[in-house]
Amino acid sequence: MSAIEEVKQKTDIVEVIGQYTSLKKAGRNFTALCPFHSEKNPSFFVYPEQQSWHCFGACNTGGDVLSFIMKKESLDFGEALRLLAQRAGVTLPSRTVPEGDKEEKEELYRVNEAAAMYFHNLLLNSPAAEKARSYVESRGFTPQTVADFQLGFSLDSWESLKQYLLEKGHSESNLLTAGLIIEAENGKTHDRFRGKLIFPIRDSKGRTTGFGARVLDDSLPKYVNSPQTPTFDKSSILYGIDRAAANIRKLDTAIIMEGYMDVITAHQNGITNVVASMGTAVTENQLTILKKLTKNILLSFDADLAGLEASERGGEIADKPPSEQTAYRYSTKSKTPLSQLNEAELRNAEIAGTRVINEEALNIDVRVIELPEGKDPDDIIKESVQTWQDLSNKAIPIVDYMFDKATTQLDLNTARDKSLAVDRLLPIVAEIKDPVRQAHYIQKLAGLVKVGLHTLEAALSGMKPATVRRKTPLPRPAAVTQTLRPLGSSPREEYFLTLILQNPQLKGRLEDLSPEYFQSSENREIFTAWQKTDKLSSLKEELDPAVHEHLDAITARILPTTDNIEQRYNDCVIELRKSHLRNLAARKAESGDTVTDFDIEISTQLRELESLKNHRRPGVRR
Ligand SMILES: [Zn+2]
Repeated sequence: MSAIEEVKQKTDIVEVIGQYTSLKKAGRNFTALCPFHSEKNPSFFVYPEQQSWHCFGACNTGGDVLSFIMKKESLDFGEALRLLAQRAGVTLPSRTVPEGDKEEKEELYRVNEAAAMYFHNLLLNSPAAEKARSYVESRGFTPQTVADFQLGFSLDSWESLKQYLLEKGHSESNLLTAGLIIEAENGKTHDRFRGKLIFPIRDSKGRTTGFGARVLDDSLPKYVNSPQTPTFDKSSILYGIDRAAANIRKLDTAIIMEGYMDVITAHQNGITNVVASMGTAVTENQLTILKKLTKNILLSFDADLAGLEASERGGEIADKPPSEQTAYRYSTKSKTPLSQLNEAELRNAEIAGTRVINEEALNIDVRVIELPEGKDPDDIIKESVQTWQDLSNKAIPIVDYMFDKATTQLDLNTARDKSLAVDRLLPIVAEIKDPVRQAHYIQKLAGLVKVGLHTLEAALSGMKPATVRRKTPLPRPAAVTQTLRPLGSSPREEYFLTLILQNPQLKGRLEDLSPEYFQSSENREIFTAWQKTDKLSSLKEELDPAVHEHLDAITARILPTTDNIEQRYNDCVIELRKSHLRNLAARKAESGDTVTDFDIEISTQLRELESLKNHRRPGVRR
């Protein structure tokens, strides 16, 4: 089963759509006011058996659950698929990089590497770097550490790096793409990093992806980083991963801290399984990278930061703009406004800067190292490595940590605070999939608020993990939720795709076909991508990698005969249009409405198609 099929199978269209519009049962189906156009009488239908939907009103369109999410959330196919995959707990194949991009990236790594050496040399040798050298010394970094992390210094000059790299043969456009220089309003370019201490940032393969830079005085901002570039994706950066990876694997534990200084101090003191997340929130991308090395993650953020949000939150959570990182799931391409993240997501993201869902979905164990108030990891390690080791041995599971943080400011003897605690913590418990763990925390919560276990269990059973936001409570249709969904396999659509992909000469004929004829979103995707491209090889680039497996299966198919391609094509088109129309007609009929102009139109069209087919078929003479 392909990943797409798995996602569809584990997703109930009624549940998903029910989160956007209030569904009313109508026989075997559901009706609603259309969530896409404004109307007074429901003309929107959801068909659980076919796992599809259709608006018979102004939209006159429909499809499967993926096309619904694409339309509703303004996402492309891959984004919609990822959203539903996460909801269903399905792991998708990651994006592969097209060849041209690979070369561009190689070039960026080279130019970054050259810049890193240039900066490093300046820190070691330039008279202008005196202040930087004494700062490094004041932090207690040894010459070996400075070399290990290739720390550097950028001259307080507008053009020195640019000139140096141009002379080395790098192009100005590459320097711009790498974020090493900035284009000013007058079109002139100049160095981005000036008069700063430089931290080259590398990926796990040791390639220099970008830079962090720190001011050497009290000016703000204290830190400047490379911008988002093809090699520098802020949501995946783990500072120090190049030096820590082997040790993380060996010790079977990774420690995530907050900044460059923490990482460097830790490594210099022999704690070598440490990386930094470059911010308070840990992203799923970062956890995915670490998961390849270990399943045991320890978080160690500066004392007050991690707990701050949790205690401040209260009821105003929705008014607060979530930090950039909390929205990691909605990629930079996503058009979903951050304000639309649901409350559970915000809560999980804000407490401790990470989310319990990650832990569950990624099957990792996340613990939090609690630090004495006012201290950060850097301080403690410098004072005593032993103290640090003791603290990290006492790290507590993240859910327990959230329990602590969510209740510290509450008086659990009052009814109001009891219910506040339940409001905060029950959604977190609901996200836990392992029944034994979940039972453990529900008991813990019951004990905390001194409420009977079954009261909480009843409340819990009314909740479901909320990954797509919900607007109205939804009755669970018993028949569809108990079993896995039927597979939406569409042999006719797939046969047709095989035919047109293997016979590029048919390409010119596709114009009179609508993507709407394909019920299945992945087939729709392939069809629209094929209209846009010339070669099979470039077709793949047009498509989200999650569709590649499906595409391969379709192109590898062997058709029984290669005769009469034109004839086959015509028959296929007619069949597709017919099944499209029949679907519409059948579904409309199921709604129990009387015959309308719409039905008459459909049956007329069907009759026309039938006669067209007989007319074209060889052997059928009139
Ligand atoms: Zn509509």
